[in-house]
Amino acid sequence: MKLSSDITQHLAASGIRLTKQREQVLGVLLQKRDHPTAGELFLRVRRHVPSISLATIYNSLEALVDCGLVKQVHVDRAATRFCANLMNHSHFYCNHCGTVSDISVPRDSSWNLPPGFVVTQADVSLRGACPNCSKNSL
Ligand SMILES: [Zn+2]
Ligand SMILES: [Zn+2]
Repeated sequence: MKLSSDITQHLAASGIRLTKQREQVLGVLLQKRDHPTAGELFLRVRRHVPSISLATIYNSLEALVDCGLVKQVHVDRAATRFCANLMNHSHFYCNHCGTVSDISVPRDSSWNLPPGFVVTQADVSLRGACPNCSKNSL
């Protein structure tokens, strides 16, 4: 697993030490962007690193969240999910199958804000049915 130069630069700038484990965790998170929980991530990383522990996964995630490479995604009271998409984006939760998808949200238009407010980051969450589920229910 080779991390992109963007990420390497981001890491260098944030001063985080990229240990082997953190690199593995980030690599697996980037591989399949379905917003896994720490437990799901643990099972995936373990396929590459059989000796890794859940505690190490939590520690690595914490470090990656601290330096801004990974975002936490909270869905109701369910376990925290993790997202390694660094682009400005929002999340769409499917009420039917529970998947979390990345969607881009218009940053400046259509918010209907009072004059003087300037949006620099849009972090809203949307709910509904994903393409799969809306197709099946119609
Ligand atoms: Zn995301
Ligand atoms: Zn769905």
